[in-house]
Amino acid sequence: MRALLAALLLLAVLTGCTNVLDPAVETNGSPPESNTGTDGHDAGTPSNDPGDKANPEDNVQDDPDPPVIDDDDDFTDQPVDTGPNDVPVPEDLSHAVWMAVGDIMMHMPQLPGAYDSKKKRYVFDPFFSEVKPILEEGDWTLANLETPIAGRDLEYTGFPRFNAPPELAEALRNAGFTIVTNANNHSLDRNFKGIDRTLTHLEKQGLITKGTARSQAEAEAKTIVEQNGIRMGLLAYTYGTNGIPLPKDKPYSVSLIEEQAIIRDIHALREADADFITVVLHFGTEYQTTPNEAQKTLARKLVAAGADIIAGSHTHVIQPYETIDVSEPDGSVRRGLIIYSMGNFISNQRGGTKDYGVIYKAAIHKNNQTGKTSIGDIEAIPTWVHRYKVNGTNRYTIVPLKQSIEKRSISSLSENEYTELQSTLTVLNKRLQSMSDQAVSVEAIHDEHQD
Ligand SMILES: [Zn+2]
Repeated sequence: MRALLAALLLLAVLTGCTNVLDPAVETNGSPPESNTGTDGHDAGTPSNDPGDKANPEDNVQDDPDPPVIDDDDDFTDQPVDTGPNDVPVPEDLSHAVWMAVGDIMMHMPQLPGAYDSKKKRYVFDPFFSEVKPILEEGDWTLANLETPIAGRDLEYTGFPRFNAPPELAEALRNAGFTIVTNANNHSLDRNFKGIDRTLTHLEKQGLITKGTARSQAEAEAKTIVEQNGIRMGLLAYTYGTNGIPLPKDKPYSVSLIEEQAIIRDIHALREADADFITVVLHFGTEYQTTPNEAQKTLARKLVAAGADIIAGSHTHVIQPYETIDVSEPDGSVRRGLIIYSMGNFISNQRGGTKDYGVIYKAAIHKNNQTGKTSIGDIEAIPTWVHRYKVNGTNRYTIVPLKQSIEKRSISSLSENEYTELQSTLTVLNKRLQSMSDQAVSVEAIHDEHQD
């Protein structure tokens, strides 16, 4: 078994990713919770409202330029001039860039304009063309796919039970995504067959998946994705499946949020030598711009138990992020990042800031002497879904908001519209940073659940 594991780990190094199968890992086969969420019940309502109006008094820090992230492993053992700031530069560091976005949704108005009648297929690449250069900076670039892509024969539909063209998987890969999680309240919109086919389509594009499974073994497989010598453990869960029960004989098919099971999974990944752990959570109250108490309690507890990044989505609007300082038993402090919700990355929802999302970017550093990782340079890049019409059908392009405003890169927008976008950007930046002034401090939770 050890030799097999070693071989698999070697494979991980060679391929940059691995799903190490370990039958000892616990699963999350708890019964579904009651659901309040629906996702997108106002989808399709046209509105030109770019969202909350900014208060001119709001003198917020406007997306401070982040330090440049150097993801090349070019640190050497040579003495380094640390300059006037006299910051000691640790030796033997590895670096990689973590990125994530919120929900990838497909409402029916998004389809006609994406159909290429010559090729007789959907081409969704234009959705992502403006953000692709940013997404490609990530070594791990995550999205939450909030719809099955189960094939035309199961009919393409939007809310309340989604099914989108499988061509979406190719567009996600082309856009620079490397990891697509799909534990969410729409996982079962085409039942188990939808999960099966969705995973197949994503895998065909070389995308790593997490959160749904076709077998018990697949659900229990540890997902560790290695980049630049840093091993990221990945987990993904949803609060529920919109009242659609998990198949009785396949309780593993969707990973549901169950605190103790998640903590066991986190500990199991640590034991499998994950350097840091990302837990993707589909949770929160739709359309609320601040996290509820249940979100805060769960996310902070998971960080205390060993998660390093919580990547939240589901609320269709951006919620803030915060950092958590975890006091470890050895006296060290580990800083975790909680992103409560990244909003919609692409959807047909408009108004009330539902047409805005955010790309998160963080530098992950690993000290190869101590084996410890740290998170630095957290950057939140607000995005906007620019929707417009060509020949009577809707077109959609996700744009980096600040950059687009500065460059006036959307030529069809008036100065007034740019002013509105700027106001919304100010509101979003203020919202994003509203919980990040001070790190929350917690004690580490260890060994509550020995396997
Ligand atoms: Zn959702």
